[in-house]
Amino acid sequence: MEWLFEFLLSWLSEFRGLVSQGSKRVFLGYMLSAAIIAVVWLMWQRRLNFVAALRWLFQGKIWWSNSSRSDYQMMFINQPIMLLLSPLMLSKLALATALFYTLNEWVSRPLWPANISTFWVSVIFTSCLFVVDDASRYYLHRLMHRWPVLWSFHRVHHTAQSLTPFTVLRTHPIEGLLFGLRSALVQGLLIGVFVFVFADRVTLLSLLGANAVTTVLNILGSNLRHSPVPISYGKTLERWLISPAQHQIHHSQARQHWDKNFGAFIALWDRMGNTLEYGSSKQKLIFGLSGQKSKEHQLSSLYWKPFKSCWSYCRGKKLDLVSTANITNVTSEQE
Ligand SMILES: [Zn+2]
Ligand SMILES: [Zn+2]
Repeated sequence: MEWLFEFLLSWLSEFRGLVSQGSKRVFLGYMLSAAIIAVVWLMWQRRLNFVAALRWLFQGKIWWSNSSRSDYQMMFINQPIMLLLSPLMLSKLALATALFYTLNEWVSRPLWPANISTFWVSVIFTSCLFVVDDASRYYLHRLMHRWPVLWSFHRVHHTAQSLTPFTVLRTHPIEGLLFGLRSALVQGLLIGVFVFVFADRVTLLSLLGANAVTTVLNILGSNLRHSPVPISYGKTLERWLISPAQHQIHHSQARQHWDKNFGAFIALWDRMGNTLEYGSSKQKLIFGLSGQKSKEHQLSSLYWKPFKSCWSYCRGKKLDLVSTANITNVTSEQE
């Protein structure tokens, strides 16, 4: 009984952390900054007055649609599931320690200028962590669209037909596990290498409990990626940074938008992978997967169908997935 009580307490604190911790995307502060940016943009671009902009932003047909309601349900249910799966997660500290001792054993320590300050070591470490973390997100996300087994789980995120900031949490726990492992691997490797090279001068520049670069970008409206507000940065900036309009294209049903804009923050990976599509503040998109049924918002379908699809695929059956054709076509076009 005691473990159950402890489990419930951790669930509650995790849930509270969703809105109170700067390391979470749906942190209340980021939601507020995104709302302010959206209202200012609607008043400037769509010539709406303040009240009309607020009404447009919080329209019930988006926030209370079947799609959004299943986002909220998944947000509650995924928390305890991820807590139960957390022992399966790779420990970044264990990995960093193992790497540190391996490097110490086999590699002679490089001689870095002794006068490089702790501040600059932290700037280099924080920037490297941000860039490598972002690149690994791109490649795992791309793989999730290309490999049918992974697509059957990632597909859950793409069944969202209306986008709100909570759609970021509409992910199958298997996807959560894979992205958690990716994060631990990247952080463990970088911490191990940096501590080996710079010893105790390595610290992460953090803001609100997260990587300072990520926090600044979150304050600047990352939550608008999952929203109906098509803020585009213009072609020059969108070559470097993924705008909300670009991620919305990633969720578009239109054939020409399939398998575009896999990036999270940096657009360079999409340029290198030939998957970049520029956004437009005038774009009108239909979100979700073409031909999807309304029952796809039912929890049983969201959690169970991916396993069924996987099982069918492993037994050699053709997957009943909208994007299967999409994967084959795009792969053959690019190869
Ligand atoms: Zn995707
Ligand atoms: Zn998304």
